[in-house]
Parts: sequence; C-alpha cells; structure tokens
Amino acid sequence: MFRKILIANRGEIALRVICACKELGIRTVAVYSEADRHSLHVRFADEAVCIGPAKSSRSYLDIPAVISAAEITNVDAIHPGYGFLSENADFAEICELSNIRFIGPPPDVTRLMGVKDKARAAMAAAGVPTLPGSEGVLSRVEEALEVANHIGYPVILKASAGGGGRGMRIVREPEELPAQFTQAQQEALAAFSCADVYLEKYIPAPRHIEFQILADTHGNVEVFTERECSIQRRHQKLIEESPSPRVSTALRLQMCQKLREAMRAVGYTNAGTVEFLMDEKGDLYFIEVNARIQVEHPITEVVSGIDLVKGQIMMAAGLPLSHVIPKSPLHPRGHAIECRINAEHPETFAPSPGRITAFNLPGGPGIRVDTAAYAGAVVPPYYDSLIAKLISSGRSRAEAIARMSRALEMFVVEGIHTSIPLHQKILNDPDFIAGKFDTTFINRFLAANNRPATPPE
Ligand code: ADP
Repeated sequence: MFRKILIANRGEIALRVICACKELGIRTVAVYSEADRHSLHVRFADEAVCIGPAKSSRSYLDIPAVISAAEITNVDAIHPGYGFLSENADFAEICELSNIRFIGPPPDVTRLMGVKDKARAAMAAAGVPTLPGSEGVLSRVEEALEVANHIGYPVILKASAGGGGRGMRIVREPEELPAQFTQAQQEALAAFSCADVYLEKYIPAPRHIEFQILADTHGNVEVFTERECSIQRRHQKLIEESPSPRVSTALRLQMCQKLREAMRAVGYTNAGTVEFLMDEKGDLYFIEVNARIQVEHPITEVVSGIDLVKGQIMMAAGLPLSHVIPKSPLHPRGHAIECRINAEHPETFAPSPGRITAFNLPGGPGIRVDTAAYAGAVVPPYYDSLIAKLISSGRSRAEAIARMSRALEMFVVEGIHTSIPLHQKILNDPDFIAGKFDTTFINRFLAANNRPATPPE
C-alpha cells in the first residue's frame, strides 16, 4: 500500500480523497493555488505545497508544478480527483515516468476514452449498443450529409475531444448541416484545440443513465447499480439519483454483464463511468466513458456500501477487487439522491463568488454532505461553482426525497447566492416526484416557473 499520496485537486473532492487516505492510514500532500491558501484541503492534509497563482493554468493544471511538488514531498502516488488533470493521459504518463503511481486507468486507455468517436467505436466492437452515426471523424460536409441522410434527422454533431457539455450541435434539417458542420469544427478547434467532429443520431428527449465501474489490475471488473442524471441544465448535471426510476432489474443485470465484458476487453482499470442515453422505448445507447471518479460518486457509495475512492487507491496499489468488494454481485440498498449546490444565482444562474458569512450543515438520518465550504470561507471566482454536494438516502425514493427536502431547508448558506432554492422547487415538482422526467425537464420547469403568477381574483 502507498505511504504518501499527493492530491492534485482542490475543494470538496480534495477533501474526499483526504478522508479515504486517513482511513487507509496513508499520509497526504495537498497542493494549492494562492487563492486557496485558507482552504480545508490545505488544513487537513499532512503537508501542503503552494503551486502557483489563482489561475488554474498556472497552478492546478501546471504539470511541472504538480510533479515538482510530488518530488519534493516524496510521494508514491497522485490522486487527480475530477476535472483539472484527471483525464490528461500525458500527465498520467509523466507521473509513471517519474516513478509516481497515477491513481486512474492506464494512459493509453484514458487516451482512447478521451477521443469520443474512438471510444464509441471501441465500445461498439466490445458489444455495447451505440447510436447510429458516422464511423469516426467526418472530414468533409458531403460525408456528414451522406451519413445524416442514411440515419435520418435530427442528428447531433459532436467534438471528438469534447467534454463538459460543450461542442455539440443539433441539426434538424439537411439545409442546416453545412453551416453547422463548419461552426462545429471551428468551435471544437477553439475549445479543445482539435477540429475533429463526428455525428450520431439525436434523441429528442432522452434520459441520461450511467454505470459506475471499478476494475482491478488482475482482470476483475465490477459494475454498480446505475445512476440517473437526467436533471441537467446545459448538459451539466444538477440532481442525480440511484437507482434510476426507469431501469428494471432485468435491464440492469443485462447491462452489468455486457459492461463487465466490454471494460475487460478494452483493458480498463481503476474507476470509471460509462454513460448512456435512454430513448422513449427504454433502450440504452452508449455516449461516452469518463475515465475518473465523478462528482456524483457518493450516491453509488450510499446504495452499494462501497467506498469508491478507497477502492481507487487500493486498486492502484495492485490489490484485487475482492479487497474492495467482499461480496459480489451488488444489490442496491434503498435509494440515494444528490443535489449539486452551486455558488450561483438560482434564477439567473450567474456565478456568485464571495465570502460565506453563515453556514449551517444539515444532518440527521440519511444525510451526507461533501463540502469544503465553511463560515468565513471565500468562494473564489476562478474555479467551478460547486460548493457542496448534498446527498440523501432512504429505504425508498419517497423517503430519500422527503429527507432531501428537509435537508435543503436546514442548509443555511449566507453571503453568497446558491442553487438551494432551485433544488427545493424541483424537489416539489409533481413530475420529479413521479420519476417522470428526461433531459428536457429543466427547460420546461424553468419556463413554467418563470411564468408570471396568476393575479388574485
Ligand atoms: P460531455 O462529454 O460534454 O459531457 P456527453 O456526450 O456526455 O458530452 O453528453 C452530455 C449530454 O448531452 C447528455 O447527457 C445529453 O443530455 C446530451 N446528448 C449527448 N448526445 C446526445 C444525443 N445523441 N442525443 C440527445 N442528447 C444528447
């Protein structure tokens, strides 16, 4: 097992990794930017190294700075968290060349998964259902027109190197395709330094369903109960839950079996998530693999009883999966929901950085909060706006919803705006309560809620 781990991240996920290390008896090194000097990950790590100014490109994304910090502190491994360098295969390679274990999949697998059209082809070859679409990157618009005509409109153009919900364009008519194609290429180049785009069938109102996997270096793969992440705004998740109200036990078992084989076939190790879209018939189609731990991992931890971050560390150290999951297969225990609490205005969605003047965490039965915020902390404007993840669980979905509703009410954050009021409204929505929603839910919900109130009689 590792002696000391450097955490190349900040905020709640850095703290989450510190929790896992403390429980495993591993020493920790935090790295931080000048803006994060007073952060809790700095406070609770055994050692801390300032790696640069506030701007991520000069601190958390600065590979030489992170590697230098790791060498000075003499760590055995680096945990990248999510975002920042977590899916950077070059970084993973540099770690290995520096004799530091990268806690994640092997660099070649991360590289494959990072090119979305290649990941799609690899998963299709391994027997996972994908949406009809182009075979790899489209070089000319004529090619795109031919594929789109063949599969039928609407279609979606996607950047091969895309991520974070960016670089996607829906095309509803052939006439729109040439202009959209050129724009998609230009956008992809500007955002991801790679103009490659591919195309697939667009599903108008899909559900987003994903499967957490954990794989060791001995060929063992475990697939966890699915997460439902259809409550999204601009392709960014807001609320996640597990299990999905729409996935039957038969479908779950069938997918778990398929994914176990597919992930073994592509040589996947460590933690990852395979994302799917579900059409109105209930069929699942692969969209992408996220080769890292995800924001919403706690709901899976709650329903499975397995600590995924400890699992990542143990498997990176070469331990077999049986040390992480004593009893397989896993059966979901109850229901869990996560609300992402962002420092943003609940109506305009404008970022709301600043000093938190009062902070009260909810507690009680079935509540978990993953956060690095506290009263007096300053939320800097430079990074992601996520300040806390509120996770509720219960024996049933209804109990998890009731607990989430009262926990949102008891969660006090003053001094900045947060998305708490938005979550409270969603939790009260009849369609949400009935489990009847898809990725178009938020747009309909916001339109309905912005309608002026009916004047009193
Ligand atoms: P990213 O890597 O940017 O997160 P994804 O491929 O995971 O991109 O897609 C993010 C979201 O975009 C999905 O959850 C879904 O809401 C939407 N989306 C992606 N592909 C399609 C598609 N073929 N049809 C309909 N919606 C899609």
